[in-house]
Amino acid sequence: MNHLSEEQTELLHRVLDHVLEVNKQFNLTAIRDPEVAWTKHILDSLQGLETGLFTNKKSVIDVGAGAGFPSLVLAAACPDLRVTALDSTRKKCDFIKATSEQFELGMRVINGRAEETAQNKVWRERYDLGIARAVGSMSEVCELVLPLVRVGGHAVLWRGENAREETKAANNAIRKLGGKIGANAFIEYSLPNLPLKYHIVVIEKVSLSPAQYPRRNGLPKSKPLD
Ligand code: SAH
Repeated sequence: MNHLSEEQTELLHRVLDHVLEVNKQFNLTAIRDPEVAWTKHILDSLQGLETGLFTNKKSVIDVGAGAGFPSLVLAAACPDLRVTALDSTRKKCDFIKATSEQFELGMRVINGRAEETAQNKVWRERYDLGIARAVGSMSEVCELVLPLVRVGGHAVLWRGENAREETKAANNAIRKLGGKIGANAFIEYSLPNLPLKYHIVVIEKVSLSPAQYPRRNGLPKSKPLD
């Protein structure tokens, strides 16, 4: 990954130091070791850039951003990206907001459920890119993310080892939501000193999401669309 300048790499180190420092008090992420956190949070978040989609002032919404991954990292690495972080937990939203202000990253933060946010016309079908990492099953994540993405935009999803199988299994749900698995949908990667294979999955938004999606709070998880 050689896209980053020395200044950006240094900024990412400072942001991560801050996350780990605040984490001692507030329990935002389970990863506490600085080297492991650099790999699993920073390098993993940066993998999204390999899609080539995060250029030209795109708007991005990170659904279930948690302590700010991948959104905080992408905002620091791509100054012209317009980044919104969405999470249902207020504590995490407050942390992202404060961190964005401290490092002048210009992020927006929405404290709310994705199901409700995506039904609000202020945000529905508004974003060039919808991203999510470690939020739920493929079907659940697609139902939460795709309605926020404009037609012509993309969902960029951080997934694990079984990305191809789970995406194929969710094909029907993806189509119902106005999505399409594109030709180069999978970027496989690994991370330093970790045995697993990970994938970035790119789903194209080809038509409007029907108004009933996402369904009400909790349903995308408890009764996954198929
Ligand atoms: N993306 C982060 C956090 C993953 S943990 C990372 O990879 O480190 C999942 C996060 O998603 C939690 O912070 C939880 O509050 C949030 N979340 C789960 N379901 C949600 C929903 N329906 N709407 C908004 N946030 C949700």
